[in-house]
Amino acid sequence: MKEKRALVIGSGVAGLAASIRLRQQGYAVDVFEANPYPGGKLSEIRLGGYRFDAGPSLFTLPEEVEDLFRITGRNPEDFFTYEKLDITCHYFWEGGKTLKAYADPHLFATEAGHKFGEPTENILAHLNQSAFMYQRLAPLFMYRSLHSLKTWTNSAALKAYGQLHKLGLFSTMHEANASALTHPKLVQLFNRYATYNGSNPYETPATLNIIPHLEFNKGAFFPKKGMHDITQSLYKLAKAIGVQFHLNSPVEEIIVEKGKALGVVVSDQRIFADLVVNNMDMVNAYKTLLRKQKQPKRLLNQPKSSSALIFTGASGSIFLNWRLP
Ligand SMILES: Cc1cc2nc3c(=O)[nH]c(=O)nc-3n(C[C@H](O)[C@H](O)[C@H](O)COP(=O)(O)OP(=O)(O)OC[C@H]3O[C@@H](n4cnc5c(N)ncnc54)[C@H](O)[C@@H]3O)c2cc1C
Repeated sequence: MKEKRALVIGSGVAGLAASIRLRQQGYAVDVFEANPYPGGKLSEIRLGGYRFDAGPSLFTLPEEVEDLFRITGRNPEDFFTYEKLDITCHYFWEGGKTLKAYADPHLFATEAGHKFGEPTENILAHLNQSAFMYQRLAPLFMYRSLHSLKTWTNSAALKAYGQLHKLGLFSTMHEANASALTHPKLVQLFNRYATYNGSNPYETPATLNIIPHLEFNKGAFFPKKGMHDITQSLYKLAKAIGVQFHLNSPVEEIIVEKGKALGVVVSDQRIFADLVVNNMDMVNAYKTLLRKQKQPKRLLNQPKSSSALIFTGASGSIFLNWRLP
């Protein structure tokens, strides 16, 4: 039987993961990457004998990376090692206040109590609420397609509908944080999590308070060779299982007929496949690769946000958050 073929546009962490999963499903996979290197936003900068991770600095859910090695029958530790962090973040405020965000919820609650007089039970109850929402919502929306009717109608979803009032849909993140915690700096600290997906804590639903659960309850980690090793080790894995990479190869167009993606155009060449996966930022993809197609105006006109300004140095990243009251 003829081997099925898949084309992946972009070798960011999502493109790499998709290429590995498709290869495991028996597809011949070609990845086209515009840059001369793989990894997308999760890459590195080398300067004057130093190496800097470019982009992400906080690593959660390492099991999702490990899973990609396991599905290929490999031991993740042979490729990729990481350690759990005791302190995920150091907070500094003007005026000299500082706070260590211990990964252990009890240590963090004690530290916050000591520095800000916040009752320990407030912090622990807030993190428990975060865990509750995560446990209800992650299986529904993180591991299923939002575009599938089944996601919204399966029994777990129907059960969650009965608990909507506990899932933060009817208040903003800031309202929930301000009602759970007494000290404004801690409210500000928890509001910061909205920036992780470019949201505004004064507008986004309190449902996004599931994010602190990842850092405080499940934990934050750091790859032993730096963040860049996440995409480097996945790149090595993908090549080892036969994924073909074409670097310096920007895709110019996705070929679409009757609403179905049939292939891509690269260097004026038309390449066809059974499946096309786009890893390029969605707005740019519509404006460039799919410019001849009907544009989803509502989606494209949504306001874009720049939620944080980040300086990365040899010893970590500094986030300067704005949108403060
Ligand atoms: C400064 C910064 C800090 C961040 N901090 C964190 C953090 O601490 N923790 C965390 O979990 N996340 C963080 N993120 C988010 C995280 O980096 C991204 O969510 C993730 O890397 C996105 O991966 P991706 O594969 O979806 O997309 P990308 O990494 O954007 O990959 C898309 C790829 O497509 C390629 N491409 C684009 N157009 C074409 C084309 N026409 N043809 C071929 N290839 C093309 C690009 O070159 C790129 O390689 C941060 C992001 C930034 C920018």
